[in-house]
Amino acid sequence: MIENKAPGKDVSLEDIKTKFPLAAKKDPLHFSEFDIAGIKFGPDSAPIFAGPNMVESEELIDDCAKNLKSKGASFLRGGAFKPLTFPYRSDKYNETRELGIEWLYKAKNKYDIPVITEIMEEKFLPIISEAADILQIGTRNMQNYPLLTACARSGKPIMIKRGFGCSLRDWLGAAEYILLEGNTKVILCERGVVAPHTHRETSRFLLDLQVIPAAKEITHLPVVTDPSHATFWRPWVRSMAMASIAAGADGVMLEVHPDPPNAAVDPLQSIDFEEFSKLIHDLSRIGKIVNRKTVGEKIV
Ligand code: PEP
Ligand code: MN
Repeated sequence: MIENKAPGKDVSLEDIKTKFPLAAKKDPLHFSEFDIAGIKFGPDSAPIFAGPNMVESEELIDDCAKNLKSKGASFLRGGAFKPLTFPYRSDKYNETRELGIEWLYKAKNKYDIPVITEIMEEKFLPIISEAADILQIGTRNMQNYPLLTACARSGKPIMIKRGFGCSLRDWLGAAEYILLEGNTKVILCERGVVAPHTHRETSRFLLDLQVIPAAKEITHLPVVTDPSHATFWRPWVRSMAMASIAAGADGVMLEVHPDPPNAAVDPLQSIDFEEFSKLIHDLSRIGKIVNRKTVGEKIV
């Protein structure tokens, strides 16, 4: 038999042994179980990450922290440093950067909710680490290997969003860079991939639900999804979040804003507090079927 030395796209047995031995499962039942700021990751739980796309103002993030914590979110999400697709800015559409990080820090302490936020440049690691319980590596930086290594060395837990054009093989390779630094708290997040057809003129990505069981066949790392970025379309977030939990996702990231149509970034994909509340209830019902004991902070 001729061995395929360069499969390129899909994972070979050889890859599992030599390319990402740390990310690979040691046996079929191997599953990473860890705790981040008191929130459990593992086969029994499905933490929920919720919040606005961007930390627009102190009031917004305070409002989100208060409401989302009380409705069962495990982590408050929100970007202060944002990889915005185009360079033009307005007062509304403007990264809040260091100030945003300070507001996240205040909200986290005031409402006792841990925070996940994106990091794009190593030089901001000390500031972002003050507020962040989890460092988010965005889809565009999944293969920024020096950034991965620097973040890994900080010892902070890391969520690595799948590059929208990347294979499972690429994604596990990126995770391996983090694990190689001895940082074991790594979460994989599927956030939609590019595909020739996305079903709707506003959509850009396709949520790869199939990558959940595929990744879990190979790795012990938790796999979560972000149906907000994947669908780019509010009415589809609910079904894709439920499908994620049904497919075995270990958590879900949701964009939630008190006034979605007026969100500064990605207003078409955010849900409001009321929709979030209904959704977390429905996710708990799905969770029960797939043996999750908690979904967000709700006991199911
Ligand atoms: C985000 O979660 O705010 C974000 C920018 O996501 P992604 O990197 O998946 O586009
Ligand atoms: Mn976005």
